[in-house]
Amino acid sequence: MKTLNESDKQYILRAIRNVPDYPKPGIQFKDITTLLNDPQVFHFLMDHLTARYEDQGIDFIAGIESRGFIFGAALAASLRTRFVPIRKPGKLPYTTISEKYTLEYGFDEVELHIDAFKTDKANPKVLLIDDLIATGGTAKAAVNLINKACASCAEACFIINLAFLQGDEEIKKQTEVYSVLEID
Ligand code: AMP
Repeated sequence: MKTLNESDKQYILRAIRNVPDYPKPGIQFKDITTLLNDPQVFHFLMDHLTARYEDQGIDFIAGIESRGFIFGAALAASLRTRFVPIRKPGKLPYTTISEKYTLEYGFDEVELHIDAFKTDKANPKVLLIDDLIATGGTAKAAVNLINKACASCAEACFIINLAFLQGDEEIKKQTEVYSVLEID
């Protein structure tokens, strides 16, 4: 499957703004709004993801709230496939299934409509997408949720992997992982 060379990666990375100490001291927040605001880079990125996944028989793209919706919906339209939102608790109107995951303090949860992956195909192929993987907790819960919904996660795709946190290592036990950019 297609990947990018170093200069293409740098081209995308330059469009992402680093905001130090947001939302709390010590966090380097990767702000993708600057990338979305740059039509050339946004198009280049979506073109790359389209080329990577167009022959993979992806039945659904599942995007994690909320920045996963932006890349996921754009990619689903480009691939002419279906988009499914994975949301924070209490946001989806119909019957849901959910998966809890632990945070540094307490827990969080992701939800999915019970019929989100309904199609005439048994075990449909899902591509999971989010803007960034940090500890991997959210993505791991999302993969579990996809499995609970009787679908199969073909790959988890991220624009950025904060590689020093090694969150991708956990997800690799469950599915393939692709990160466009690795940040050390
Ligand atoms: P995690 O569950 O720790 O992998 O966190 C992933 C989620 O938190 C993603 O939806 C990201 O958008 C967000 N996130 C975590 N850390 C950062 C960061 N440094 N910059 C931007 N977004 C982040």
